[in-house]
Order: sequence, then structure tokens, then C-alpha cells
Amino acid sequence: MPPEQPAAALRLDLDLDALQHNWRSLDRMSGSARAGAAIKANGYGLGSQRVAQALHAAGCRDFFVAHWCEAADLGDAIAPAALAVFHGPLTEADCAFALATGVRPVINSIPQARRWNAAGGGRCDLMVDTGMNRLGLPLGDLADESIAQLEIEVLHSHLACADEESPLNDLQQQRWSEVRTRIPHRRAALANSAGIALGAQFHGDLTRPGLSLYGGIPRPELEGVIRQVAQPAAAVLQVRDIAAGEGVGYNSQFVAPRAMRIGTIAVGYADGYLRCWSGIGSAANKASPLPVLGRVSMDLTILDLSAAPETCEGDWVTIDYDLPRAASLTGLSQYELLTLLGRRFAR
Ligand SMILES: *Cc1c(COP(=O)(O)O)cnc(C)c1O
Repeated sequence: MPPEQPAAALRLDLDLDALQHNWRSLDRMSGSARAGAAIKANGYGLGSQRVAQALHAAGCRDFFVAHWCEAADLGDAIAPAALAVFHGPLTEADCAFALATGVRPVINSIPQARRWNAAGGGRCDLMVDTGMNRLGLPLGDLADESIAQLEIEVLHSHLACADEESPLNDLQQQRWSEVRTRIPHRRAALANSAGIALGAQFHGDLTRPGLSLYGGIPRPELEGVIRQVAQPAAAVLQVRDIAAGEGVGYNSQFVAPRAMRIGTIAVGYADGYLRCWSGIGSAANKASPLPVLGRVSMDLTILDLSAAPETCEGDWVTIDYDLPRAASLTGLSQYELLTLLGRRFAR
């Protein structure tokens, strides 16, 4: 018999009820449109298969990934016909994969449209660029004959500034509405998480939330609605008592002002708990706050156990990771905070 898998010392606990609550809330806020789900980047770092299954159980029927390999990674978690790939067909092999599986490509350019048509075509999505200048068909290319040949399930555009008040929001909405009258399609989609909060003109038939499904709050309208989904937790590897004046961690960035009890936990920057948390992060044992002392290192972080001196080796602590608060403390975006969390987290 192979030896039993050693127990993890680092966990990412997922609150699937909160995930489903967030999808239902965003679906309700989408009015007459249905909410889909962006599950790219491994479900924003949380595990795309589990996320997709939970969202499907909540009622979600449209899923989006960025790369073709992410479609393959989903296995049979969701029906291929419910999935579209944002990056579109870059090669003939991508087209062949789409045709064989039924996963829809999102066409972003005339070359992609030609490639898809040449491969045999069929149901696809079209992304039109209405002012972000990132990925999507420029408005000037709409009249191309290769676009007229497409069989478009969802006509997409994507907002550049949905998380702020910007005149570009209305401008993009107007351009997208205009495109909807020019290009035949079954359904139209414009809004990401933040865009859902911009109101009914932004909803179309389908919305594409990502961040807020996973607990992110890009706009104040979503405060009090969206619940935290991802909770990191780490095991305490060692506890020690140190005297006043002793240094802690690399470069002794923290020096004890008094005798202290401290503990070392099994998380570090290699796990996505970056050095920007040095001296400002915190964890908790039950309700007792345990501030991060000194530098975060690759695999380890040191905590002040003053508030919970009973903490011992093998105990688990939760790492404070409320996304809006974590973003304002570290300067990282809520998106980065989620997608950084590494492979050593047991999910
Ligand atoms: C990632 C992505 C989304 C989801 O955006 P959030 O801001 O995470 O809600 C929607 N649409 C497109 C095209 C995307 O790339």
C-alpha cells in the first residue's frame, strides 16, 4: 500500500454557501438578465471544478475561462456547451478542440473569425471592443464579411472603468447597444461584477461576474451584499518565548520591546502571502488577534501570540483576508489577492 498522503499544514477554506449566495445576489441584481460566471484562472484561485459545480447547483448556466487549457482542466464539471473561452481560437488546434467538445470560442478579431469559419464554424461568441482597447473586434471591423458568417450565441463587450464613475461607462454602453442592432446574435452581455451595479442598461441578456462571486467588492453598491468566500488557515509549526531586545525573522525587522511569546506558521510568500504583509498582516486564534511580526519569508510567517498565549504547535490559525480590507492594507488588488494563493494551499 502506498503511504497515506501527509496532512496539509496550509488550507484555503471555501464557504460554498457564501459563493452560491453571491451568485444568487448578482443574478438578482442583474434584473431580467441571467448571471453567468467567470471561472478563469482556476476559479480566481479557488479551484475551478469545485467553484463550477457549486455555481451550477445554484442555477448558473454560463461559464467563462480565458485559456483553452482551462476548459480542458474543468473535466466534466460542467457541460461543454455552457462554457466559452475568452482568448478565442489562436490556432487550428483550438478550433478542432472547440468543434470536438462543443466549448464555444469567443471571437476577438477578423483573423480569429476567418480561422473559425475555415475550420467549419458553428456556434461561437463575439467580443467587440467598445473602448477598452484590450481584446475584442474593433468597431471598424464589424462590417467584415468574416463576421457576417458567424453564428453568434453571445455578443460581448467589456467595460474598462466599471469600478469607478467614468464617462467611458455610458459611452461603452451606447456603443454596445448600437452594435446589438447591427450584428445578429442570440444574447448580449456587457457587465462584469462592477458593471452589474451600474444599472439595467448595462445588463443585456447575460452578465459575467467574476470577482464578486468570490467575495470581492469593487463598488460600494455591493457592500453588505457580497460575503467572504475564501478563508486561508495555517498550522502553527513552533512556539517560543523571547526576551526583550531579541530580533525576529530575516534582517531582525522586528525587535521585541518586551518579553513575548511568538509562533511560526506554515505560510509564506511562495504561497502568495507576499512580503507586503510584513509587519502589517494579522491572523487570529478564535477571536484573538495575532499580528505578523517582521518579514514574511518564503514558507514561514511569525506571529505575536500575546493575545492567545495558550496557542501551541499544531493549532490552526486563520489569516485575516477580508478582500477589500486586505487590498487597502497591501496596495494589491482584490483580484491579485485571490489569484496569488498558491498550490500548497489544500483547497
Ligand atoms: C474576467 C472577466 C470578467 C469578470 O470580471 P470581474 O471584474 O472579475 O467581475 C468578465 N468579462 C471578461 C471579458 C473578463 O475577462
